[in-house]
Amino acid sequence: MPAVRKAKAHARATKRAAKSAKHVYCFGPSLAEGGAKDRNLLGGKGANLAEMCRLGLPVPPGFTLSTEVCTHFYSNGRNYPRGLEDAVEAALARVERDVEKRFGDAANPLLVSVRSGARVSMPGMMDTVLNLGLNDDTVQGLAERSGSARFAWDAYRRFVHMYGDVVLGIEGAEDDDFDPFQRALEDLKRRRKVRTDPELAAEDWQALVAEYKRIVREHSGRDFPADPRAQLWGAIGAVFGSWENERAVAYRQLNGIPSSWGTAVSVVAMVFGNLGPRSGTGVAFTRDPATGERRFYGEFLMNAQGEDVVAGIRTPEPIERLGALEPRAWKELLAIQEKLERHFRDMQDLEFTIEDGRLWMLQCRNGKRTGFAAVRIATDLVRERKITREEALLRVEPEALNQLLQPIFAPAEIKRARREGRLLTKALNAGPGAASGEIVFQAERAEERARSARVVLVRIETSPEDIRGMQAAAGILTARGGMTSHAALVARQMGKVCVAGAGELAIDYKKRTLAVNGRTLREGEYLSLDGATGEVFAGEIATQPSEVLAVLFGGGKRRAGPVFRAYSELLGWADAARTLKVRANADQGDQAATALAFGAEGIGLCRTEHMFFEGQKIDAMREMILADTSEERERALAKLLPLQRADFAAIFRAMGPLPVTIRTLDPPLHEFLPHEEHEISFLAREMGVSFDKLQAKVESLKELNPMLGHRGCRLGISFPEITRVQARAIFEAACDVARATKKKPRPEVMIPLVGTPKELVLQAAEVRAVAEQVFAEKKTRLSYLVGTMIELPRAALVAGEIAREAEFFSFGTNDLTQTTYGISRDDGGKFIPHYIELEIFEADPFAKLDRAGTGRLMRIACEEGRAARPALKLGICGEHGGEPSSIEFCHQLGLDYVSCSPYRVPIARLAAAQAALREKRRRDTGD
Ligand code: PEP
Ligand code: MG
Repeated sequence: MPAVRKAKAHARATKRAAKSAKHVYCFGPSLAEGGAKDRNLLGGKGANLAEMCRLGLPVPPGFTLSTEVCTHFYSNGRNYPRGLEDAVEAALARVERDVEKRFGDAANPLLVSVRSGARVSMPGMMDTVLNLGLNDDTVQGLAERSGSARFAWDAYRRFVHMYGDVVLGIEGAEDDDFDPFQRALEDLKRRRKVRTDPELAAEDWQALVAEYKRIVREHSGRDFPADPRAQLWGAIGAVFGSWENERAVAYRQLNGIPSSWGTAVSVVAMVFGNLGPRSGTGVAFTRDPATGERRFYGEFLMNAQGEDVVAGIRTPEPIERLGALEPRAWKELLAIQEKLERHFRDMQDLEFTIEDGRLWMLQCRNGKRTGFAAVRIATDLVRERKITREEALLRVEPEALNQLLQPIFAPAEIKRARREGRLLTKALNAGPGAASGEIVFQAERAEERARSARVVLVRIETSPEDIRGMQAAAGILTARGGMTSHAALVARQMGKVCVAGAGELAIDYKKRTLAVNGRTLREGEYLSLDGATGEVFAGEIATQPSEVLAVLFGGGKRRAGPVFRAYSELLGWADAARTLKVRANADQGDQAATALAFGAEGIGLCRTEHMFFEGQKIDAMREMILADTSEERERALAKLLPLQRADFAAIFRAMGPLPVTIRTLDPPLHEFLPHEEHEISFLAREMGVSFDKLQAKVESLKELNPMLGHRGCRLGISFPEITRVQARAIFEAACDVARATKKKPRPEVMIPLVGTPKELVLQAAEVRAVAEQVFAEKKTRLSYLVGTMIELPRAALVAGEIAREAEFFSFGTNDLTQTTYGISRDDGGKFIPHYIELEIFEADPFAKLDRAGTGRLMRIACEEGRAARPALKLGICGEHGGEPSSIEFCHQLGLDYVSCSPYRVPIARLAAAQAALREKRRRDTGD
């Protein structure tokens, strides 16, 4: 079909669909169209209002304009589908019948609220209009029917204010805290010499309505619309329009909500919580949303409208007090909250109003909760036989477990810091937890000061030589770098708080200052980092250790409380459900022990280079780098041998018979040498070599693209003696530990950055030869594997050939992402956030595996590797190994294990279980 005819046919089809489709869904005592299952169409609010009606609960009647209307609105120049007006009229007539009032009737007026509601809740992001339908006539009817002129005129002025703000867009000047309506109210109170709203009389509100209407005329050039139908369509348009307001767009971006979903609009008959002393309004949760404890939790205000509870003008009362004030409504509310939780089988967040002693439910939805509450509620609901273990596992966001492990700032302290204006900046929440400490700018200084104080290490960026300072610091803050920058990955592995990429910081190492947003802080002053939010505060904020850590590492001193019990119960179920194994990335014995306590089933990556920065090892390493001949190099390496052996032995001892993957040297050698002139001269003196020689070496190792340079197995190929000495240290340590502990370590030696099969053949031959020698010398034989990282696209593409030599593959997805995209993992932070904003990237590919590109290479490597060697062991040790969506992909690829930093092991255990359960569900439903 030619394009034009095709387009016309499409337009006709759309028109037909628009004409025939149902766009308005009623709910009320006489009819409930749709229900909880229809949240995509009716939005969360509309769907659950209908569902509550189905359950026979007291819900004010109303109707919902579907999200399809919103989609039509935006794709047709802000016009509505044909027939919508008639459908709204019919729905309105039904509401009028239900409540026995008429919209626009001067004697007995129906008033409505117009509310937004997307399929997932976006709290406070979109607009709402209350008390709609009031004008100079209907206000009289409302006054008479309610018996209170004061109430009626108060409702009217609230309506004009809200409508003026939401629909007509009347705002205050930028430098004014008040909008013109608030300003007029404040002026009135001053003139009447009163402080609070309740002190104003009916005539005051009436005068204010007149003033508000004048404000509307002045700001919009039009009279306030008196016709209730014009008001209604104005409000509907504004609420649909609020889907694209700045707040809503930003919230969607942050939470990955597509703009195509749209919002629904619910029009609901008004009930009033401000009708007198027997009226009120409140919000409540069926369980405590902070702790998960099973108790009805919430607050209310008598004689108030919902906005008063939120605005914080009056302090609400705890929900339990309602029993004494309105016992009948309280009893009914208790029964309803039980019923709703049982029905939705999850913790509910409720909004209610009591109008003259009569209870009305205005909203219910699954309640937002902290990580603590998520775990506790899920396990409690299983015990109460409301949900299955499978459901419990699928309900907890794996990331939520993070909160259970981290020391935390006391929430009241954070609030205080914000109030005091101590929030300095916000950046990437790269390493979890909360830390306060003295600012230091150098790693050595961090070590020194940490002996007597808590320190926060502040760097433009970190490098491997900062590792001891990082270890000593309570927290790490960098101005540059992304989620897989050195600082971020090392911090997570150490379980350290880290805020990375804080571009607003201006750090001056010389003056030892950091400047941010007009404030300057010096070394020694206190800084606080919130790794959960990425916020940086000036000054100290007190922290407390989490219960889970206190039990796991408290040496039996701390008894398990409800948080620990829920944590270990949930993870026990996760272990039974998952097929992927979970290992940890750990470089030292203590990290390995931590990983084990978190449930790691092996070490998936031990980066040997990190070991070289401790004690005398760096000296021997530098000696080795400076060596001119192979003999000199071997002499220096001989000094390294016992030191490395001791490191490996500590890991093998911690891990017992579990597999330990140790990678041979990976980073370019320049990372082991200083770069500043004064440091070079200091080191030259220490090592007894000339400054010139050392500087010449530093120069000769400089590379334009060190990440693509002389690193990985290329070093081992150039200097096979390095690989040999590392292999010797590994196998000697393994044999010694086997003899001492009677447990057989299972070393897996991993060669990094392999791109061609021959590289692996040569390196594997060195490793195997050393293994045989050591076994003969020690008269002990252990089983071991030699394998490779797959971290270059070429390695993935020739995986079949590589698998002839490799006994295992471990995907190094940090480098594989870097080389697939051609984006430097250390510099991507400069533009990746912008790419995400523009939706070029759905997410940071260094944090969440890019399935289409990097993932495709992984799939090729898995398929071709296993075709060549069916028993090939497959794992991942890049940072993605601890990220839930990437873990799901690894499950789908059929990997044997994922490996992540120790503190992410619990998250990976849960994510792996979820991946297995989702696959099972898909299989069961045939999707
Ligand atoms: C990787 O590249 O994914 C990896 C684990 O190695 P590194 O981060 O040490 O380069
Ligand atoms: Mg790598």
